[in-house]
Amino acid sequence: MLVLPIKPNGEEEKPSAVVSCHSHVQKLEMDSSNSDKQNNNQSVNEDPAGVDNEFCPGFKDVDAFVKYGLGTVVAATKASASLPQVGDEYDLYRSFPGFQEFCETQGDGLLHCMSQIMHHHGCRAHMRDRNKLTGLEERFDLVVDSNDVILEKVGILLDDAAGVNRSQQPVMPAGFQPPKIVVSSWNRKGGDSGSGRSSETFRLLQAKNVTRPQLKFREKVDNSNTPFTPKIFVKPNAIKPLPSYFTNKHIRKERPEDLDVPAALADFIHQQRTQEHVEDMFAHPYQYELDHLALPENLLSKPEPQMYKPLAETKCSFIDTLEDLVAVNEKLAKTSEFAVDLEHHSYRSFLGITCLMQISTRDEDFIIDTLELRSELYILNEAFTDPAIVKVFHGADSDIEWLQKDLGLYIVNMFDTHQASRTLNLGRHSLDHLLKLFCNVDSDKRYQLADWRIRPLPDEMFQYARADTHYLLYVYDRLRVDLWEVGNGQPALLQMVWHKSKDISLKKYMKPALGREGLAHGPICHLLA
Ligand code: AMP
Ligand code: MN
Ligand code: ZN
Repeated sequence: MLVLPIKPNGEEEKPSAVVSCHSHVQKLEMDSSNSDKQNNNQSVNEDPAGVDNEFCPGFKDVDAFVKYGLGTVVAATKASASLPQVGDEYDLYRSFPGFQEFCETQGDGLLHCMSQIMHHHGCRAHMRDRNKLTGLEERFDLVVDSNDVILEKVGILLDDAAGVNRSQQPVMPAGFQPPKIVVSSWNRKGGDSGSGRSSETFRLLQAKNVTRPQLKFREKVDNSNTPFTPKIFVKPNAIKPLPSYFTNKHIRKERPEDLDVPAALADFIHQQRTQEHVEDMFAHPYQYELDHLALPENLLSKPEPQMYKPLAETKCSFIDTLEDLVAVNEKLAKTSEFAVDLEHHSYRSFLGITCLMQISTRDEDFIIDTLELRSELYILNEAFTDPAIVKVFHGADSDIEWLQKDLGLYIVNMFDTHQASRTLNLGRHSLDHLLKLFCNVDSDKRYQLADWRIRPLPDEMFQYARADTHYLLYVYDRLRVDLWEVGNGQPALLQMVWHKSKDISLKKYMKPALGREGLAHGPICHLLA
């Protein structure tokens, strides 16, 4: 515990206060370093091979280094925990100029240290140059970003050490020939657990030094331990209007703490505002429309399959500007059905990121850069929630969540070919199996676990992504014919698939909750209850 000598009359002894603080911290540092170094030196001395075999100067091996490092961190944590706390004794101590001065110097030293570490790792640094009053939040963001970068590097190095990426080749050079096998234990496919996926080995395509796309996002990724609320502020095709909580969200900028009211009142206002909207905040924005969705006409008669266009004769565009996205939206609005798929990256980011959206109409394929257009993609809700347009997905469970989480998109009127395959008992329900069965296409699922953040998107990955939706409308036709026939010319099975697909559209994205024991499963809405 820090002891500031205070004279009985209340005057502080400036010099000794500073000295006592300094000496205390320095003593702590020395204590820990001395004892640990001594231990460490002992272990060095025990090494008969001597200094040459040292892991780094003064340390016999990694363990010795880690032990020393941990000891130092623990000592520093203890020292910081014993500093006077804000709202406790801090205010008293703060009234002593000596203490203030000490805090300033220590603080500057720490910021300098952090800047250097960040600089060393190639992160944005300059922690010390920020405006002290307004810069705190910004500095905190810098620390969070830097931690991500550093942990990502650690992850890559651990992968290297574990042999995940033994190949020294750059990730996707032109004319890239995939190496025979590079597998890690985590990306080795397990036994087929009903999904139809075999126990093949899969290559983990990873990109080193991919710029973290999050840094470009206009809206920050919300990694906080608060429940997810829908990212929606306009609701096309609404029967029931969007609750005011969402429509006013971008207008209602002033926060209670910004109002000229006492803190307790600001808290109260905040609570009231939250309570008022709590039901709306966590509801599915299209629940009402999905509950009242009428069975589409085309499910009542036997469909006529429409052959897919050969790849070579189909226009395929990469969409990464708002202008092009608007054009896609206009085209989609005129169709009666289109196919959708997503590629997602979750290996190196906490909640994962949707990196790509593939859409195929009967005439055209679109590969949409969902990193670049993340804040604009909500405009597709016009077609995505139009009950007159069927959206065909294969295995949409995750896609529905990713659409909500990253893009604020919802689906009204979906047909999931995975559900159709299950209803038909086709035995294997993977997309590759359906493509082989109906289109005689050998799809190559090798890039499934690629790092989809890579830009420019290598041609191999572009072609792979395209194949995921290009044939899907034809697969949808063929499955509907089979469902019709297996159902003895009655629409019952088609309707069953339609209902199952609707249930999937009704799924709500829930952020994983972080408990004291790490990731707790299930929704965290109860936190607010
Ligand atoms: P797909 O629908 O097959 O194109 O997969 C979409 C996304 O799901 C991929 O971009 C991956 O992020 C993820 N994914 C698919 N299969 C697996 C798997 N076996 N293990 C982990 N992630 C997967
Ligand atoms: Mn998919
Ligand atoms: Zn896909």
